[in-house]
Amino acid sequence: MKTPYYLLDIQKLDSNLNGLTSALEKYWSNSQISYSFKTNNLPWLLNWMKKNNVFAEVVSTPEYELAEYIGYSTSQIIFNGPYKGNETLLRAIKGNSIVNLDSFEEIEFLLNNVNQFRHLPRVGLRINFDLESKCPGETIPAEESGRFGFNVENGDFEKAVNKLKNSKIQIVGIHGHHSTRTKSLGVFHAITTQICECASLIDALEYIDLGGCFFGDKPGAPSFEKYLETISNVLHKNNIPSSVKLYLEPGAALVASPFSYICSVIAKKKIKDTTFVYTDGSMKHIAPQMSQIKFSYSRTTRSEHIVPRQVVSGYTCIEMDRFLDLDNQLELVSGDLITIQNTGAYTISLAPLFIEYFPAVYVKDGDLLKQVRKPWTTEQFVQNNIID
Ligand SMILES: *Cc1c(COP(=O)(O)O)cnc(C)c1O
Repeated sequence: MKTPYYLLDIQKLDSNLNGLTSALEKYWSNSQISYSFKTNNLPWLLNWMKKNNVFAEVVSTPEYELAEYIGYSTSQIIFNGPYKGNETLLRAIKGNSIVNLDSFEEIEFLLNNVNQFRHLPRVGLRINFDLESKCPGETIPAEESGRFGFNVENGDFEKAVNKLKNSKIQIVGIHGHHSTRTKSLGVFHAITTQICECASLIDALEYIDLGGCFFGDKPGAPSFEKYLETISNVLHKNNIPSSVKLYLEPGAALVASPFSYICSVIAKKKIKDTTFVYTDGSMKHIAPQMSQIKFSYSRTTRSEHIVPRQVVSGYTCIEMDRFLDLDNQLELVSGDLITIQNTGAYTISLAPLFIEYFPAVYVKDGDLLKQVRKPWTTEQFVQNNIID
């Protein structure tokens, strides 16, 4: 098989989804998993999610249209995000999608267009609150404020509720997704607690949406059971009835671990004490934001010779496209294969068309191997361009 390519292990994907499904069954069976498209938007994967009764979670017009292209009915789409596009926002509400509003502009737009709806439009509100003060050091913006949703502390959330209360639009849900550094149980305790507080302002609450940013099967991380136990304890303590539906929007927890990325050694050079190992892969495919991550990997080699230091690097002309730093390990030689593990989240959806095109993707089902994306060629690259 021509390298580089991504490999999706369907058994691992299955077991991640089953783990989350059974935790939900046990702790809050009135629930629905909705997959975050942006985490990995490989069309084959999106269709697999649909076939496995997972809803679509999208945050833009193109993602909304992609969900429809895959065959999702509009009522199986959760529509979030700060830029939905007005046309699509209207279409989503008319089509009974689960729509979580993010700004007063969206509220005003809907109030101005309320005559367009044949049935009572139903929406959720995304909340914004000071999570950092409850979980110090755990949030991504840290001392800065989060930027999504209606802020609770400055009164915006209550203002949004009141604006809609005496209107022809009904609030039926609260959305509380927060990306955090830690993905801890404490974070989900804090988010669920805040949602329950906000819920007291809503007359006809039908759902609570906790968003994503869970760990999946990472060793040592909280299990799906622990997350759901924490969440359901808070819901019960706050007397949220079981008729309220719980939505989760996992991305990475489902798809990070089932993917790996395989590339080949193509050349070597020794400069001072370092042996540079060149591959046909790149950091751009496994950590497109070039963040320093320690990658889990495996490799084949035919050599029995130990080398003091080997730095494995990519095909780009970026100096720091270096992804493994190996001390006192068996020598890598041309033709050896290197496999980087856990490459399913924020890789395929974020990889650029920089120097090389998108690589192939294969799905492994037991002993069966199937190509689900051909590598891009110049033909795909120039599509939609006017050259002359
Ligand atoms: C990104 C995102 C998710 C998924 O996040 P993961 O960390 O991949 O689980 C879910 N919901 C919303 C609103 C998001 O923006």
